[in-house]
Amino acid sequence: MRLPRIDIDIGKVAHNIQQLKTLYGSKGIKIIGVTKVVGGHPAIAKVFIENGIQILADSRIENIIKMRKSGICAQYLLLRTPSLSQIEEVVIHAHISLNTELIVLKELSKYALKNNILHKVILMVELGDLREGIMPVDIDHAVKEVLELKGLSLIGIGTNLACFGGISPDDSKMKELSSIAIHLEGKFKISLTIISGGNSANYYWFKSSKNVERINNLRIGESVFLGRETLCRIPIPGLFTDVFTLVAEVIESKIKPSQPYGKVYQNANGKIKKFKKKGSINRAILAIGRQDVVVSGITPRQNISILEASSDHVVVDNTESDLKIGDTIEFDLNYSALLRVLNSSYITKNILTFNECKSVL
Ligand SMILES: *Cc1c(COP(=O)(O)O)cnc(C)c1O
Repeated sequence: MRLPRIDIDIGKVAHNIQQLKTLYGSKGIKIIGVTKVVGGHPAIAKVFIENGIQILADSRIENIIKMRKSGICAQYLLLRTPSLSQIEEVVIHAHISLNTELIVLKELSKYALKNNILHKVILMVELGDLREGIMPVDIDHAVKEVLELKGLSLIGIGTNLACFGGISPDDSKMKELSSIAIHLEGKFKISLTIISGGNSANYYWFKSSKNVERINNLRIGESVFLGRETLCRIPIPGLFTDVFTLVAEVIESKIKPSQPYGKVYQNANGKIKKFKKKGSINRAILAIGRQDVVVSGITPRQNISILEASSDHVVVDNTESDLKIGDTIEFDLNYSALLRVLNSSYITKNILTFNECKSVL
């Protein structure tokens, strides 16, 4: 199989989904499966459906179209506020979208009517993280307007924290969202079926909360794929953190000085680098680079350390491992690294089927 490649252990994905479903389900919270980090990869998206997740969410309409074309039968939710230039595609391909702008909602309504579709919307409320969201003082007005738009069905409200500002989805934020839901239902005589409290960052709130009140939904990506919560990136007990393995090949292995010699200017990344003086060291080059992965986001599973990387090469200190030409190295990946890898056309995506990984479960 062509290298570099990423091994994707589907059995571990399934295990993580089951665990999270049971965990959050214990207090009445359903999860939406977020597929954006895997670029809507159909074989991976399918695992959510096979494990009882009914709604799949992605930030890109292209990924939703890809999953639908692959025959994966789900309710599809568009996470990123629809772009005005993509409204008709959104209405046709996504059943639900998260929204914050009236001008967008009016367009959604227009194209929903044109296509004879009832498009479901969730309004996002700003609670301090400062990415998407309607300010709480403006939410009544937004709801009033949405309720008047034909072709749209307001099914819920939501919030997104811990993304732009790193703000914690704590009890006070979740209580605020609950009260907004209760207030809107009373004022407009509506019933909101989805109150979506957040993402993988909501884990500690969930664990410590005795009463989740009206929060009945979370949109979960990273915890499924990397087995961690996202406030401190600590592993969640019982989840696999090694669903993905990046594998790269050694193409040069030599003893060379630890420091470049000659006049020092910028390197390929525009940096003037300083390297520790350690005499001559055993160095190796791997056939992978910044085109394929966010190099700062990968951690070797064996005893080598990354010295520097350019577009197509990663240079490592090989003193402790003595790698030979043709050897392969395995890496763990963080979210940014994974995002780049799964969207790089140079990396083979190797789906390990359930049987191959049964032994480790
Ligand atoms: C990406 C995203 C999520 C999922 O976040 P994870 O940290 O991967 O769980 C949830 N909601 C929105 C709006 C997103 O963009």
